[in-house]
Amino acid sequence: MDLRGELRARLAALERDGLYRRRRVLEGPQGVDVVVEGRQRVNFSGNDYLGLANHPEVVAALRRGAEDYGAGAGAAHLVSGHGRAHHALEEELAEFTGRERALLFSTGYMANLGAITALAGRGDTVFEDRLNHASLLDGALLSGARLKRYPHADAAALRQSLSAGSAGDASTRLIVSDGLFSMDGDVAPVAELAAVARELDAVLMIDDAHGLGVLGGRGGGVLELADLGQDAVPVLVGTLGKAFGTFGAFVAGCAELIEYLIQRARTYLYTTALPPAMAEASRAALRLAREESWRRGHLHRLIQRFRAGAGQLGLVLMPSTSPIQPVVLGANASVVRAGTALFEAGFLVGAIRPPTVPVGTARLRITLSAAHTETQVDSLLAALADLAARPEFRVGAMP
Ligand code: PMP
Repeated sequence: MDLRGELRARLAALERDGLYRRRRVLEGPQGVDVVVEGRQRVNFSGNDYLGLANHPEVVAALRRGAEDYGAGAGAAHLVSGHGRAHHALEEELAEFTGRERALLFSTGYMANLGAITALAGRGDTVFEDRLNHASLLDGALLSGARLKRYPHADAAALRQSLSAGSAGDASTRLIVSDGLFSMDGDVAPVAELAAVARELDAVLMIDDAHGLGVLGGRGGGVLELADLGQDAVPVLVGTLGKAFGTFGAFVAGCAELIEYLIQRARTYLYTTALPPAMAEASRAALRLAREESWRRGHLHRLIQRFRAGAGQLGLVLMPSTSPIQPVVLGANASVVRAGTALFEAGFLVGAIRPPTVPVGTARLRITLSAAHTETQVDSLLAALADLAARPEFRVGAMP
């Protein structure tokens, strides 16, 4: 097979469909003020929601961690890679999430793959929200369990789907949902999902990668908003690369869940532990996220300011009270052109296309951070106003 020729054809097809993705090279640190290919831009596309990624205390903890523990962990956790820093972070994450224990994974993608494949297998059924993150869907596919997807945020449809199944047999029924949806910015109906799980004897797993640190007065995420504890949501996943500004992820739950994942989660067993210095940086970030609640206050004021301004421009926003504020344009080509126009105007905004989002719902994914200023939000709104005046972008028009 002419591999080069075959791949050229496939790449050309992606280009033709407006699905070709290009990386941009950031010169310095990530954050709100970035230098992209030599040009200063205001970043409205990252997940550093609390503005902690470049915080001097987080960076100092990383540096100190490297001095104390070296650059890498050197082995998987069960071999000789599990260090004091990892252990301390796990205990702090358990306390923060109100769970008995927490278990670190190297990424959120791996946490989801590991947890789902450990909990469900052949003969079991995994029920997933249609808009769940790719790692949650991939986990179910890899597990060998039956995968049933229910309409977005529709607990009634989930109940129906579960009731139709083989209740009463010994198989595991696992319900899996994002907490705060990464591409829409809305919140899952977690209380209703928990009620369905309780009534129909299923297990509920919530991946609150985007909500933890951000939502709720304490930053406890969607489960703090809904006041749900470990009994209602026995499997909670969080990531450290977003609001906490560092890298890594965790699963939190009862002691038996964590012990079982240590035995059985293949993405935990067969991979190098994350660098202990990174665990030290995450400990500093977690402390700041908890103590500096003004970051959440400022962020939520910016969210309100953005939504009010966008509303005045006539933009159609999603029902999101989170830092994720997508503007759906529909066509892939429109979103690429809009992203480029915003870049030329001084902003970095994600142009999100299928398969990340459903076909026909390509969108600008605007994200806000506590590190943004009101002035920066206002100038983004001004750039969006310019864009909205150009008919070819149909800004805010639903497909
Ligand atoms: N879950 C959700 C909902 C996510 O949005 C992401 C990252 N985009 C992940 C998990 C994966 O996390 P990580 O980047 O740590 O692999």
